[in-house]
Amino acid sequence: MNIILLGPPGAGKGTQARRLVEERDMIQLSTGDMLREARTSGTEMGKRVAAVMDRGDLVTDEIVIGLIEEKLSGPQGGGFIFDGFPRTLAQADALGELLDRHGSTLDAVIEMQVDDAALVARITARSTCGNCGEVYNDITRPQPADGKCVKCGASDFRRRADDNEESLKQRLMEYYKKTSPLIGYYYAKGDLERVDGLGEVDDVAAAIGKVLEQ
Ligand code: AMP
Repeated sequence: MNIILLGPPGAGKGTQARRLVEERDMIQLSTGDMLREARTSGTEMGKRVAAVMDRGDLVTDEIVIGLIEEKLSGPQGGGFIFDGFPRTLAQADALGELLDRHGSTLDAVIEMQVDDAALVARITARSTCGNCGEVYNDITRPQPADGKCVKCGASDFRRRADDNEESLKQRLMEYYKKTSPLIGYYYAKGDLERVDGLGEVDDVAAAIGKVLEQ
């Protein structure tokens, strides 16, 4: 089963994708994570996209489509979760063609709905474990007092360079201008499902589970 998690930054796509990996053996394909990895490993591409990402702009379609294309030839597990991809109509078309070429299909596009005020609050309070990716929030889920990640025990909490109000404003603009048209695109294809992304992580996971059982 291949699915897209669609939604603005901070909607909870990464958190839900990680659960699906654990519970259904699916493979998370997060272009944001791939680009961040390219940055830290100092590749030529990583250097080229760093400033673009920090501003909150989108990197070129060509780069992210190339990253996804590479992964589609790798292990498939219980299917792919596309997290943060596609973000433009050109990427959506490319994904359709790539899946076709691999004899695969898209089973569902899950739009995670959250309002802007919640996004700002979530993102500016967000930190993650640098080792396992567990997500914390200064207000609703603070980092443990003993300084160790509840999941893996590492003591390496990080905040993303683009998780500040200024970059977030730009990321939201990019979402509304370039990514939100995908809602209509997939609705017209009959693939779109909507879940309320504002609830507790478990409730959102249950709503996504229900969609996947259908
Ligand atoms: P994310 O982790 O999904 O919030 O992505 C972080 C940043 O990486 C975005 O603000 C973009 O600069 C870049 N990025 C991630 N995925 C894409 C994509 N599919 N298309 C273009 N840029 C992307």
